[in-house]
Amino acid sequence: MYDPKSLKAEEFIDHQEVLDSLAWADAHKNDSKEIDRVLEKARLHKGLSHREASLLLACDDPGVEKQIFELAKEIKQAYYGNRIVLFAPLYLSNYCVNGCVYCPYHYNNKHIPRVKLTQEQIAREVTALQDMGHKRLAIETGEDPVNCPIEYVLESIKTIYSVKHRNGAIRRVNVNIAATTVENYRKLKDAGIGTYILFQETYHKESYEQLHPTGPKHNYAYHTEAMDRAMDGGIDDVGLGVLFGLELYRYEFAALLMHAEHLEAVHGVGPHTISFPRIKHADDIDPNAFDNSISDDIFCKIIACARVAVPYTGMIISTRESADVRARALELGISQISGASRTSVGGYCDPERTDESSAQFDVSDRRTLDEVICWLMKLGFVPSFCTACYREGRTGDRFMSLCKSNQILNCCHPNALMTLKEYLEDYASPVTKLVGDKLITSEMTKIPNEKIRAFVEKNLVKISEGERDFRI
Ligand code: SF4
Ligand code: SF4
Repeated sequence: MYDPKSLKAEEFIDHQEVLDSLAWADAHKNDSKEIDRVLEKARLHKGLSHREASLLLACDDPGVEKQIFELAKEIKQAYYGNRIVLFAPLYLSNYCVNGCVYCPYHYNNKHIPRVKLTQEQIAREVTALQDMGHKRLAIETGEDPVNCPIEYVLESIKTIYSVKHRNGAIRRVNVNIAATTVENYRKLKDAGIGTYILFQETYHKESYEQLHPTGPKHNYAYHTEAMDRAMDGGIDDVGLGVLFGLELYRYEFAALLMHAEHLEAVHGVGPHTISFPRIKHADDIDPNAFDNSISDDIFCKIIACARVAVPYTGMIISTRESADVRARALELGISQISGASRTSVGGYCDPERTDESSAQFDVSDRRTLDEVICWLMKLGFVPSFCTACYREGRTGDRFMSLCKSNQILNCCHPNALMTLKEYLEDYASPVTKLVGDKLITSEMTKIPNEKIRAFVEKNLVKISEGERDFRI
């Protein structure tokens, strides 16, 4: 029985409700009156229900698609402006006791090198990331209570925050580790993490159990209810995601939004972010073995429909995607991207590990961070290394109220410009610096509040003189 307020996975992601939503969307996808009603609601920028968003995704009328894309761009502009937040993944350990059939770190893969970084190696990796200019990391580990216990993760977070190389610092550590207990989530919260990220992989229970034949991850309910435990453990910001390609995309899309609705209904705050990964080649994984893969066009439509459905949620795309797909997705709603990622353990400073033999997936966008930053600016975006909300304690609903009160131009935008200026001073190539300084000058005029504009102007000078870490 579908109940968004239930704490049972099978009730808040009720299989029949997903099927009924898809059937309803199919029945109405040519019903212009219903589609107009949903588009009209979407124009209020307050979001859509999973059924309404599923209707837009099902509708293949080119005129309606055009309106969806325009709306997605409009909403993105309203809530995020032209800022794009940058981050990098950091793989700590690829030991794993699970049998996920789409991931090369699965337990049965006996030839992949297993690596767990020591604290010294982590410090070296973080130094390499700081030297590129990164300020925000997402740490990743496989699930292995013996080789990679929670104590190891906590110690690693401490190490990451402690490294300060030249003007570098990691100011926000997001964590992507296996579903765990409330007690462990509390420990992660106390360690000062930003977002807790856990991909659902697929919401389709039967497929989920087949794709996760062995290991603790086989337990669908335990995995699906992890975000509730994380929030019970005090973590305000959680990040959802499915691995597109495993199941039918329309099923995943509806269920993903049901999960977001569930978090809002129970905890009063929706997901902080949603990631959009597609299955990719890696070691012993052939993406063609999964017959639900989606085209670039469908992928972009999913992103646009999600932008319209959950306007306040950050949306993330990684270097799994090519520069071309990333450029399209950025227009349609993506607000965060990774740059210069290494998806193997120890890949940032150990050249032997930069090959793909121990990577979790192949990277499509292989550009340096400097190239990505320059590319973003030439596309008209403002790259941002801002972590201010987390550091000012503006998480969960406090972050949402900032977003909902339209203070982006007086808060996020100035923070983006100040952190970009830091990047330009410390890490940029001469060409990127030139493009960036010009961009900052023109973007300064967009700050509506005079006092804030003066505050930023003063700080930009201080940054060029060597001071760091200003924020609103
Ligand atoms: S997806 Fe995660 S849990 Fe599954 S095998 Fe890979 S690392 Fe392990
Ligand atoms: S001010 Fe807060 S919401 Fe805005 S970009 Fe910075 S961290 Fe994000």
